Amino acid sequence: MATHKFRTEVNQLLNLIIHSLYSHKEIFLRELISNSSDALDKLKYLTLTDDAFKKLDFDPRIDISFDEGDHKTITVADTGIGMNQDEITEQLGTIAKSGTNGFLSQLTGDAKKDSNLIGQFGVGFYSVFMVAERVEVISRKAGEETAWKWESDGKGKFTISEAELDGNGTTVVLHLNEEGTEYANRWQIQEVVKKYSDHIAFPIYLRYMKAEYDDKGKEKSKEEKLEQINAASALWKQAKNDLSDEDYKNFYKTITHDTEDPLFWLHTKAEGVQEYTTLFYIPKQAPFDLYQVDYRAGVKLYVQRVFITDDEKELMPTYLRFLRGVIDSEDLPLNVSREILQQNRIMTSIRNASVKKVLGELTRIALEEPDTYTKFSEQYNRPIKEGLYQDFANREQLVDLVRFKSTAVDGFTSLEEYKKRMLGEQKAIYYITGGDEQTLRHSPLLEAYKKKEIEVLIMDDEIDEIVVPSIGTYKETELKPVNRADAGEDLQGESDEKKEKELKPVVETIKKALGDRVKDVRISVRLADSPSCIVVDESDPTLKMQEMLKAMGQSDLPDVKPILEINPDHEIVKKLAGVKDEDFAADVAFLLLDQALLVEGAQVPEPAEFVKRLNRVVGRAV
Ligand code: ADP
Repeated sequence: MATHKFRTEVNQLLNLIIHSLYSHKEIFLRELISNSSDALDKLKYLTLTDDAFKKLDFDPRIDISFDEGDHKTITVADTGIGMNQDEITEQLGTIAKSGTNGFLSQLTGDAKKDSNLIGQFGVGFYSVFMVAERVEVISRKAGEETAWKWESDGKGKFTISEAELDGNGTTVVLHLNEEGTEYANRWQIQEVVKKYSDHIAFPIYLRYMKAEYDDKGKEKSKEEKLEQINAASALWKQAKNDLSDEDYKNFYKTITHDTEDPLFWLHTKAEGVQEYTTLFYIPKQAPFDLYQVDYRAGVKLYVQRVFITDDEKELMPTYLRFLRGVIDSEDLPLNVSREILQQNRIMTSIRNASVKKVLGELTRIALEEPDTYTKFSEQYNRPIKEGLYQDFANREQLVDLVRFKSTAVDGFTSLEEYKKRMLGEQKAIYYITGGDEQTLRHSPLLEAYKKKEIEVLIMDDEIDEIVVPSIGTYKETELKPVNRADAGEDLQGESDEKKEKELKPVVETIKKALGDRVKDVRISVRLADSPSCIVVDESDPTLKMQEMLKAMGQSDLPDVKPILEINPDHEIVKKLAGVKDEDFAADVAFLLLDQALLVEGAQVPEPAEFVKRLNRVVGRAV
């Protein structure tokens, strides 16, 4: 017998399970059945596709029994693929799932928040330690002779030893702790299985003792009974009319381990050139690994009810990676490999049709159930934006599904709604990018728009810099960033030309002082209260964009210089025209530039110089 230690992440998870998942103890049974079902799926696939397994006598089933006597136990046994010595040591001693580290790093210590996260992550096998003080797993891999026993009390260590098992598969014996004893009972087990595992595709049997009583209530005899306790039919193959909302929700929980109900779902049967069924769910909470490179795929592929894979990210486009559910094709070959799958004509057409279905449903919800759609946007607006540059075929629909923050309304708005609110003479849809929401909302660039009551969209999402310029125009109206030199056409007034002439000497003074720190100095039409602001030339990347490119490792970037705009009506600018002292004028010029950078959330290149100038100017003023 060999003793092993759990890996650190297992200990961490075990701790969490015991402290945060307390109110969902019953899920241990769902997790065990789900593991058994996966093991049966894997063996079923091999018996259909691999010659070495075709002769195997395969009777797929899950058997549950319990002991309600003094020594309370529950046993879950399957005839699935089983585990050999290495596998049982590895798989029940570590967490091999991708995204584990990301998951653990997001934990907050707040039991309620963490329990949601754990729910999404799926605690799997280790949930048994909520109800058991000792657990034995006896397993024999299909095609091998030796069985192995794993045993642990969930407190840091486990042992592995040789064991006996009739046939291949895995048997899990739970020695229940005080909290777990209530589950060693026929009605509890039946209820939990009905709730979560009714539509597991393999039969689940419950073995129990049934007593007969005489008229005086005395036990006459006791007999062992074996009863199938689940429907064992693939839920997605059933007619919509035969399924209740509860059925859909419980099935969702079975396949995702989520503790919450889904936001909504979409069940489609396609018949015609191709026959397939899809059932997609949108989780209420975005999956915790949505923005991790090693996110887990959420859609499972079946071929004629045979499970093929749950680890294929190409089944749906990446921007829809938050979808959960099932695709079941009648036409794909059973032994479809990953390579085949990726270029398979049938798969491509299922995928394209599914994307259209999902986007169609989102469009409907946006229209008919605005509250639900707001919830959707709060979680998934960003992936939908990613779709704008990933999925050109569906761009038009995606543009209408994206939501933005705005200076005109609270919460989210669509481009369509913006268009409806546009002023009669307004020529473009305006937006501001390049910082967090508060910085953007207070940017001097918005002053004149606010004054004229022109709405500006607040784009505070990092990817807006890339996504939004790619929209270009929306239904014939151009989208223009307010920090571009040419975005002022809706702001121009009649007196502007006169001011231009008057202030020419000031502009020249500032230009001379700032030298090559700026590309140009111009009279602004977009300022009301602030003396100055920074804009970028038509074809230049914005400050934020430059930062992003640098962060992405682009070092050979040309040095892009900003254009300084000054407010012709501001006191500082007006008075500067009369200043004779060149050094003092230069200090003011630099302060006009540096304060405009600061208010945009950008860095001042020489903070020490900035402070010196500031002090000289203040010194003169006091
Ligand atoms: P998950 O099922 O999400 O991968 P678990 O912690 O539940 O995580 O299980 C870890 C691994 O142990 C599984 O991926 C599987 O390889 C193995 N395993 C668990 N239960 C069984 C079983 N009944 N039969 C075969 N392998 C199993």
